[in-house]
Amino acid sequence: MRVILLGPPGAGKGTQAQFICDAFSIPQISTGNMLRTAVAAGTELGQRVRGVLDSGALVSDEIIIDLVKERITQDDCANGFLFDGFPRTIPQAQALQAAGVPIDAVVEISVPDEEIIKRLSGRRMHPGSGRVYHVIFNPPKVDDVDDESGEPLIQRIDDKEATVKERLSVYHQQTRPLVEFYQNFSNTESLRYVTVDGLGDVNDVQKEVLKALRNE
Ligand code: ADP
Ligand code: ADP
Repeated sequence: MRVILLGPPGAGKGTQAQFICDAFSIPQISTGNMLRTAVAAGTELGQRVRGVLDSGALVSDEIIIDLVKERITQDDCANGFLFDGFPRTIPQAQALQAAGVPIDAVVEISVPDEEIIKRLSGRRMHPGSGRVYHVIFNPPKVDDVDDESGEPLIQRIDDKEATVKERLSVYHQQTRPLVEFYQNFSNTESLRYVTVDGLGDVNDVQKEVLKALRNE
């Protein structure tokens, strides 16, 4: 199963990715997590992209395409994978097609802009695993502590309100056109396009996403 999760920042892609990956035994490929790991490790890639991530702009298509192409050759991707936060531009989606990577389903999680600001201002994450929480909507068992590792949670620098507004604007300009791109494509190829309402609690959205992927 090869799945793309599409939706604005804060739609709940990372949250739902964890359930989908468990249900289908496939790895989560989050380009955002990969880039943040590179920044934290201070690698050459990390140094190149740090400023871009903090500003809310997108990293260049070339960097992302190389990163993803390399990642999907790894053994754990043999039975499929879930893309979370990729592709994010039409050229990225075209590069995926040109590389002959078949996609079985695109799941769009739809959430209005007003809700996004509320969600991202309360987001907390565990940097080691990428697990995400929300101080009110999806709190950890103990405040500011990851449920599984017991390690501290952090707030992302790009989750401050001004940067969130920039990311939303980037989403509408560069990523939202992928909705039409994949909807058109799903009429002609064996690709399923489903839209799930991302409002409502995490468990309800999870049920809808799994139902859609199991074609129930
Ligand atoms: P969110 O979960 O809020 O949607 P991500 O963790 O996916 O955010 O991405 C964080 C940042 O990483 C983006 O704002 C962008 O700078 C960079 N990034 C992640 N994925 C991509 C991509 N596919 N193309 C370009 N930039 C990306
Ligand atoms: P994305 O990966 O699309 O940027 P996340 O999964 O990181 O989104 O979710 C953004 C924030 O919203 C997190 O704090 C998360 O806990 C919270 N969240 C996710 N799904 C829901 C939901 N259905 N209702 C309320 N909050 C949610």
